[in-house]
Formats: sequence, C-alpha cells, structure tokens
Amino acid sequence: MFKVHSPLKWEEELAEVSAGDRNISDLAVASASEAFKDWANLSPQERASFLYRLADLIDMEVPNIARVECTDMAMRYESLLNRVIPRGARNFRAYADLASEYQGRVWDSNGTTNLIQRLPAGPTVIITPWNAPFMLATWKVAPALAAGNTVVLKPAEWAPLSASILADLVDQAGFPPGVFNVVQGTGEEAGSFLTEDPKVRRISFTGSCETARKIGIEAAKNIVPFTAELGGKGALVVLQDADVEQAAITAAGQYDDSGQVCLAATRLIVADEISEHFLDCFYQNVDKHVLGSSFEDATTITPLIHPDHLQRVEAFVDRAVENGDEILRGGKRLDAEQLFYEPTLIKPASNNSEIVQNEVFGPVLTFQTFEKEEEAINLANSTEYGLSATLFTGSMEKAKTLGSALRAGTVWVNCFLVRDLSAPFGGLGISGLGREGGDYALDFHSDLKTLQIRNSDDS
Ligand code: NAD
Repeated sequence: MFKVHSPLKWEEELAEVSAGDRNISDLAVASASEAFKDWANLSPQERASFLYRLADLIDMEVPNIARVECTDMAMRYESLLNRVIPRGARNFRAYADLASEYQGRVWDSNGTTNLIQRLPAGPTVIITPWNAPFMLATWKVAPALAAGNTVVLKPAEWAPLSASILADLVDQAGFPPGVFNVVQGTGEEAGSFLTEDPKVRRISFTGSCETARKIGIEAAKNIVPFTAELGGKGALVVLQDADVEQAAITAAGQYDDSGQVCLAATRLIVADEISEHFLDCFYQNVDKHVLGSSFEDATTITPLIHPDHLQRVEAFVDRAVENGDEILRGGKRLDAEQLFYEPTLIKPASNNSEIVQNEVFGPVLTFQTFEKEEEAINLANSTEYGLSATLFTGSMEKAKTLGSALRAGTVWVNCFLVRDLSAPFGGLGISGLGREGGDYALDFHSDLKTLQIRNSDDS
C-alpha cells in the first residue's frame, strides 16, 4: 500500500492505494494478453458500442470524478467540472466514431489485388503523469481500445485516484474482463515491470523526458513501438504589430494551475518597442490572479502537487539567482505550511541560462526581448524542446510565415490551447516521439499487413 496526500491539505492522509509490484504487473499483462484475442476479433462497431457506453457513464459521473481529481491533485474544480473531465467522455466518443470508419485499402496492380489490413497490435501499456491524470489516461486508453488492443494503465503515484474510478466505470459499461486493467504504484516498482514484459506490444507514455529515456530502452529490448508525449518549454512570441493586451492576458494565464501544464508558454519573447506596454498589461493581469482553494470558483493559482515538486521549483529559481538572472517578480514560496509558489517572472542573464533552457513545470516564466523578427524565431527555437509555441501578430502574412518558422508540434497564432481532437498532437525534439490525435493514434495502435492475391485468369 502507499499513502496519498492531497495538495490542498498535505498534513492529512487522503487515501491508501494498493501498490503494484512485479507479481501484480505480471498478472495485469497476463490478463490483458488473455483478453486480447476475443477483443481484437470484435468488429470495430462492436468495440465502439462499449466505448459509447463508457462515455455515457463518464458524463453521469463528471461531478464526482472532478471532485476526486481536484482533491487528489489540486487542479481547479471549475475547470475539471466544465472542461477537463467531460473531455474524457469526448475522447471515448471521438475514438468510437473514428474506429468505426478506420479501414484498410484495396487496389489492383501487377495482376494481383492488394488488401491492406489494419490489425490490432496486442496488449498495450499506458503510463501517465500526475497533471490532468483522468483526461490524459482517457486520451490514450480510448484509441488503444478502439483499435482492438487491450490495456494496462499505470497512473502516476502522486495522483492515482481517478484511474480507479475509470476502472469501475469500464466494469459498469460491461467490457469483457481483462480488456482494461489498472496497476497502481511507482514507476520503479510497478511501471518498469510492465514495460519490460515481452507480451506487451505497444507502450504509450506521457511524462518527463528522463523517464521516457528509461522506457525507450525497455521498448527497444522487445522491439516494441513506443510513443512519448513529453515536457515542453513553449515560447510566446509577441510581435510589434500584435494585440498587446490580448497577448498579455494569455501570458498571465500561464500561471493558471500554477503552471503545471506541459503546453504552457513559459518563455515570453516580446518586441523591444512594445515591451514596456506589454509588461504593464501583463502585471495588471497577474494582479488579477486569485490564490486559494482549488474548489473556489475565483481561484486561479492552486497549490503545487507535492512538497518535492515545490522544492524542485524553488531550486530552479535559486539557481537562476546564483546564475545572475534577474527576478522581475515573485521568486519565493508563499507560505511555509502550504504548497503555493509566487507567480514568478525572470529576466535571464543569457539565453543559455538553465531557467530558459529547462522545463520548470511551475509558475515561473522568463522574459526576453528582440529587435528583429528573425531574432525572435531564433530565440523561440533555441531549446531542445518543441512541444508548442504561440505567436501574437496583427498580420496574416506573418501568421503563416513566422508560424511556419516556429519549431514545435503545435503552434497557436493569436489563440492558445485551442484543440481539434482529430489533429495530430505531439512534440518535436525532446518533447516527444510519435503523434496522438485522430487516426494518428489508431495508426500507432495497429499493425499494417499486406495481403496480395493473384487475380484469377478470368477476372
Ligand atoms: P514522470 O516521468 O516522473 O512520471 C510519469 C509516469 O511514469 C508516472 O506514472 C511514473 O510512475 C512513471 N514512471 C516513472 N519511472 C518509470 C519507469 N522506470 N518505468 C515505467 N514507468 C515509470 O513525469 P511526471 O512528473 O508525472 O509528469 C510531469 C511531466 O509530464 C512533465 O515533464 C510534463 O511536461 C509532462 N507532460 C507531458 C504531456 C504531453 O502531452 N506532452 C502532458 C502532461 C505532462
């Protein structure tokens, strides 16, 4: 068993969860393997009917899941209730729809018929992080199940509770036993045994680059396709011709949920001529942030997930100060008892500063200015990450040319966090491997096979 604490009241124990080990991990993979043949043999429409039922059950449970998730990891309740948890149901519906239409191809050539078949790949291990755990798990589980794979989900040990609710709902939806399994516990004591099991035919991971490197080695040993959605260090580039007020609102919004968002635009890169005006607007919006309980509608700044994570954020800022980076605002924890950290803005001594180059995953932004647009793009593209980037400009021409020049898996122009579930999602550079979203995830969870039949002489 391991103990779970709520970031909202760290001193109290919230729950005890049974910890997976080698034995439990082996049992879960064996269960997924046993269930695979029958699940894979169902038609996509039959599988979709289970996914639709699950989506309906999630819809009915949204307030409960939102309450548990909020308590477990402190994302804002309002956001969980109205957007994040309902997205879980949308994920299952979207993949039930898509899988029903996901087909192979047929064509004739060289006197033969080529039948390209898409086959379910096999038992799939899905490993998820602690930020938005329910939404991220459903985003990965839905395409795997829709494609005909069976699943073992290992949620993060810092926010494990909503995965167990998902398992209950899968049960209620009448899925055959073994199609969906959950193993709780730490990465080392549960996750690693799942990823090294040769019966596993796909591994889908979301989390840090550091863990991805370890899982990638296990995947390589068994020649298993592996997809990784990893960290980010998104740039927010504001050109001289931009709507500065709107850009500043978006920039200040990066502190929502204390910046524990992989897609967060944490590097503000602003045209010199407008930088003072931008900072005025930015500070006005930062002043509007409300720090408080994640259950209060007005709250925007929530506690960090865990004391260890708070320490990590503090250490980043301390090292920045030692490095000669200038704190423009914030820069310390707010309260000795609770897990809040001040919204912080740092002007780096150089673009090579650690605070510019590495993901903090907290309420810490950097501020840089530029004279020429080319310089802005170079700064934006200068980290090893490439998950997302954001551009503010008043010109449609620049939206296209500079938007194309930004090196990231997703680039937003004059908007932020807008997503179409059928668009590809993933990172460039060290931000990821493979793509999620739409057919891209179904492709990952399927094996392609060519069946080539010589046409009969009279055909
Ligand atoms: P993490 O890498 O520490 O842990 C993620 C998961 O991996 C957890 O379930 C953990 O138990 C498991 N794990 C750890 N070691 C393992 C091992 N050796 N074998 C198997 N499993 C192991 O990441 P985290 O701190 O939970 O999450 C934060 C990170 O996730 C940030 O870098 C963030 O940017 C990233 N993230 C990325 C996306 C995306 O879509 N790109 C979304 C959310 C979070």
